[in-house]
Amino acid sequence: MRVAVIAFLALLPPAEVAAGRCATDEPAGVTAPAQTDRHHAFEVTIYSAIEWLVPDSDDLRAICFTGTRDIRGCTRFFGRKLECGCVTDGSRWTMVGRVRLVPFMYLSEPYFERHEQLHVGDIKLRLERHLNVLTRLRFDSKTDCEAAAERERSSFSDLLDSYMRASNLRLH
Ligand SMILES: [Zn+2]
Repeated sequence: MRVAVIAFLALLPPAEVAAGRCATDEPAGVTAPAQTDRHHAFEVTIYSAIEWLVPDSDDLRAICFTGTRDIRGCTRFFGRKLECGCVTDGSRWTMVGRVRLVPFMYLSEPYFERHEQLHVGDIKLRLERHLNVLTRLRFDSKTDCEAAAERERSSFSDLLDSYMRASNLRLH
């Protein structure tokens, strides 16, 4: 078994990786970021992948929860949680959110790491798009905003699963 750390985040300038905050970290009623700073209202961080070589295809199928005969590898994400909450600019409410994932790659050969990185990049883009949409919504009340944030938190794991299925359709 081999563990390799892939410097995925090194490809991205720090400002694009971690630029947000979650309202759960803030006292109530904090001021929302300025309009020009809107893209900083969320953060999607995908940590360096942890890579495992699994040469036995039965083992690999079991780990990847699939019956696919010619499986080469798969990536599972740990830390599948959306942290999000609400902030106000004094009149309306908006969501702020954060996702931090650790990709675990299970590979039949090191060669397939490159393909799995395509999935990681694809998932990151989909999550960024989603959080970008969420943080552009405006709510008239804190209650409405918090109800929406709660819906997003509870559905996040299913959302991530759907992105992984979509990623498989796109890249296979
Ligand atoms: Zn794939």
